[in-house]
Amino acid sequence: MHCIYCQSEEVVKNGSKTLKSDQVVQRYLCKTCGRRFNERSGTPMARLRTPAATVEMALNARGEGLGIRAAARVVGTSPSSISAWEERLSSHLPAWSPPAPEGGEVTIEGDELYTRVGENLPPEASEGWTISFIERESRYWLEASAGLKAAQLFEQGVERAWQWAVSSAWIRWFTDGERRYGKELWKLASVYLPSHLTSEAYPYQKVWREGLEVAIKIKGSQGKARVEWLQVEHPWTAMSSIAEVHANHLEAFNSALRRRATAYRRRQNHYAKQVEGLQRALNVQRLIHNWVRPHWSLGKARTPAMAMGFIQRPLKISEILLSRGFEWITP
Ligand SMILES: [Zn+2]
Repeated sequence: MHCIYCQSEEVVKNGSKTLKSDQVVQRYLCKTCGRRFNERSGTPMARLRTPAATVEMALNARGEGLGIRAAARVVGTSPSSISAWEERLSSHLPAWSPPAPEGGEVTIEGDELYTRVGENLPPEASEGWTISFIERESRYWLEASAGLKAAQLFEQGVERAWQWAVSSAWIRWFTDGERRYGKELWKLASVYLPSHLTSEAYPYQKVWREGLEVAIKIKGSQGKARVEWLQVEHPWTAMSSIAEVHANHLEAFNSALRRRATAYRRRQNHYAKQVEGLQRALNVQRLIHNWVRPHWSLGKARTPAMAMGFIQRPLKISEILLSRGFEWITP
């Protein structure tokens, strides 16, 4: 046990309190800084009287595709409590978002999804867009931003996805035909080629960073997609085959997401009226997808977070609810 304020290990038990639900919450005192806290301080369950099992049941139901109202009926509470619990978990997302391991290899897939949010506006004017990035091999869902399909959404999504991937030695960046992914990335990941590496055969001044390869898939007629590499790679970057660019897992992933996340169903729903609600639901989905649910493609009982090497076992939602982040989880 570390002190949540000063990280000191000089922490002693300091009594306990019993909640209405008969749950006992251990209190601690830090001998270094003198401050008191309890085992729920700094977790999504801090100062909440509801048992973690109840919140877990509700979020599990949400994760299985139930709407907010249906989930509220399952646990016998109000829809606003469900939203509030989702907000608690969602706000802890940064503590569950480690970057890709240094020096590794990642394949990033980016794509957009549309959903109706609020008023029945035409797609261009609706805020119901999500841009989503996954890492192909691990199925780790590294980024999902909801909002208007506008420059800002691409800027934000691309910047976050790039920040996640940037420490990797080899990065393959494959997206759908939306050119803004490439444009935004060029601002972040292009470099000037040293003059000793340019030649008549390779006369480029500015190229992608070494180890980074960027391609888009342009949907053509009859559903045939064409692959186009964007800008120029660094002369030392190995390139993938067209077949490797085509192998897209994000499309299958998105259809699974549509099944699970009510916000993506076509019909009007009551809670996704605002983009905040959509973002919150996405954050919760993303946490559960990465850390809780083993993915069928990864072998027996392996979650995307395990495949990324972040942790050694699948977690229960209740463990996430009662923890300050993945670094505090006991193996
Ligand atoms: Zn302390």
